[in-house]
Amino acid sequence: MALMTGEEYIESIRKIKMQVYMFGKKIENPVDDPILRPSLNSVRMTYDLAQIPEYKDLMTAVDPDTGKTINRFCHIHRSTQDLMNKVKMQRLCGQKTAACFQRCVGMDAFNAEWSTTYEVDKVHGTHYHENFVKFLHYVQEKDLTVDGAMTDPKGDRSKAPHAQEDPDLYLRVVERRPDGVVVRGAKAHQTGILNSHEVLVMPTIAMGPDDKDYAISFAVPLDSPNLFMIVGRQSCDTRKLEGSKMDVGNPEFGGVEALTIFDNVFVPNDRIFLNGESEFAGMLVERFAGYHRQSYGGCKVGVGDVLIGAAAVAAEYNGAAKASHIKDKLIEMTHLNETLYACGIACSAEGQPTESGNYLINLLLANVCKQNVTRFPYEIVRLAEDIAGGLMVTAPSEKDLRDPKLGAYVEKYLRGNPAVTTENRLKILRLIENLSLGTAAVGYRTESMHGAGSPQAQRIMIARQGNLGAKKKLAKAIAHIEE
Ligand SMILES: Cc1cc2nc3c(=O)[nH]c(=O)nc-3n(C[C@H](O)[C@H](O)[C@H](O)COP(=O)(O)OP(=O)(O)OC[C@H]3O[C@@H](n4cnc5c(N)ncnc54)[C@H](O)[C@@H]3O)c2cc1C
Repeated sequence: MALMTGEEYIESIRKIKMQVYMFGKKIENPVDDPILRPSLNSVRMTYDLAQIPEYKDLMTAVDPDTGKTINRFCHIHRSTQDLMNKVKMQRLCGQKTAACFQRCVGMDAFNAEWSTTYEVDKVHGTHYHENFVKFLHYVQEKDLTVDGAMTDPKGDRSKAPHAQEDPDLYLRVVERRPDGVVVRGAKAHQTGILNSHEVLVMPTIAMGPDDKDYAISFAVPLDSPNLFMIVGRQSCDTRKLEGSKMDVGNPEFGGVEALTIFDNVFVPNDRIFLNGESEFAGMLVERFAGYHRQSYGGCKVGVGDVLIGAAAVAAEYNGAAKASHIKDKLIEMTHLNETLYACGIACSAEGQPTESGNYLINLLLANVCKQNVTRFPYEIVRLAEDIAGGLMVTAPSEKDLRDPKLGAYVEKYLRGNPAVTTENRLKILRLIENLSLGTAAVGYRTESMHGAGSPQAQRIMIARQGNLGAKKKLAKAIAHIEE
C-alpha cells in the first residue's frame, strides 16, 4: 500500500475497535463524534497533502532499505536535508490545519528508537533493533499513524519510579512470560492517540538499576485488550456540539489528548524495543525529546503563520491596518515566528549521523529552539489579542447574528470597515479566539510550554551541551590570562 488517501485513513481508524471514554461515557463511534472529529481531520491532512504533486517532495520520502516511497511521517532521517524537510513539512501541515496534526510524535519516536535500539544491541547482544525495524517496515508499508507515548503520570516528582508510593505511577512490567511481558501504568497527555493505529511506548526519564521494570519500550495496536483512553477536556470543547461553524473559529481542524490506561496489557516479544536495560532509558528520552523539540520549530511556526494572517485580516476589518503600530506589531509577530523556524532549520542543518546511520539533530540548538517556543507563541498571541480588540471575547453568538430580531443590531453595531460584512469580521475574531483561548490554544500555547518537556528540561540540556568550559578558555585567551 505504502501511501493511504485521507479517506482510506479515516476508514482504517474506523475499523479499530478502540476503547474511548469522554464525559464519563464510552464513545462507540469516535470517528464521527463532533468533539473528536476535527482532530482526526488534522491527521488526515498528513495523508491528503502526501497525495498532492506540489507537496510530494516534502510529504514523502524514499526509504533506502526498501526502496519504497513512504509518507515522511514514517521516515528515518538519513541526511541533514531530511531533517530540514521534516521541519518544512511540519510548517506546511500547521499552515493547512491551524492545529496540532499529531503525527509527528510517532515520527520522532521512530527516529529515537532507531538509533537507541542499535546501540543497546551492541552493548547487550539483544535484538531490539531487529524488532524495531520489523515494526517500522510494517508501519511504513501500511502508512500507519503511531502515537508516541512518553509521559508517565509521575506521581511525586521528587521520587524515582521505583520509590513512588503507588508503583504504577510510571508504566512498568508486572509479569514476564516466555512469549512477552504484561505492562501496567498510564501515559498522560497523549496527543492524537485516538487517531492512531498503534502506540509506541517509551520511558519518561533517565533511570537507574532499581528502575529495571520501568525501563520498557514497546509498540501495541490501539485495540489491544485492557488498553483504554479517557479524553482530556479543552476550553470551549462543547461549543462543537452547538452546530455553529462560526462560533468554533476553526470548524474543520483541532487536536485532542487523552489519558491512556494500560491495565495489564500484553506485549509480545517481537514488539519489545527495551526491557530492563535501564542505563539506555536516558538516551531514548534525550533523543526523542531532541527530535520533538526540533519539531516545534516547524509545527508551531505553521500555526503562527495562520495567527499572524488572522491578526492582519482583523486589523483590515477594523479599519486599523494602516496604523504604524499595527504594522510594527505584525512585524514583531513575524520576527518571533521566523526566529522559531530559524532554530528548527539550524538544529537540522547542524545534524550529525548516529552509529546506526540515521541523523540526529544538533541537541543544543534543538533545545534552544524549544526554549524559545515556550515563550514566543505567548507573545505572538498577546500581540494578536491586542490587534483583534476586545470583541474576540465579547462577541455574541452566530445564533444572535442569524436571529430575525437581534441579527440586524449585531450586523449594525459590530461592523468595522464598511466594505466588510460583520459575519466575516466575527469569523476572523473567532479564529483568533480559538488559537488564543479556545481548543486550539491547547496545541498552540500550553503544548508550546510543556510539550516535549517543560522549560526547565531544556535549560538542563542547554547547561549540559553549552560547553561553558570552552567559553571560559576563549575569554582567558583573549584577556591573556595565565593561571
Ligand atoms: C498539549 C500537550 C500535548 C502533549 N502531548 C504528548 C504526547 O503526545 N506524548 C507524550 O508522551 N507526552 C505529551 N505531552 C506531555 C509533556 O511532555 C509533559 O506535559 C511535560 O513533559 C511536562 O510534564 P507534566 O505535564 O507532567 O508537568 P510536571 O512534570 O508536573 O511539571 C510541572 C512543573 O514542575 C516542574 N518539575 C517537574 N518535576 C520536577 C522535579 N523533579 N524537580 C523540579 N521541578 C520539577 C517542571 O519543570 C514544571 O515547571 C503533552 C503535553 C501537553 C500539554
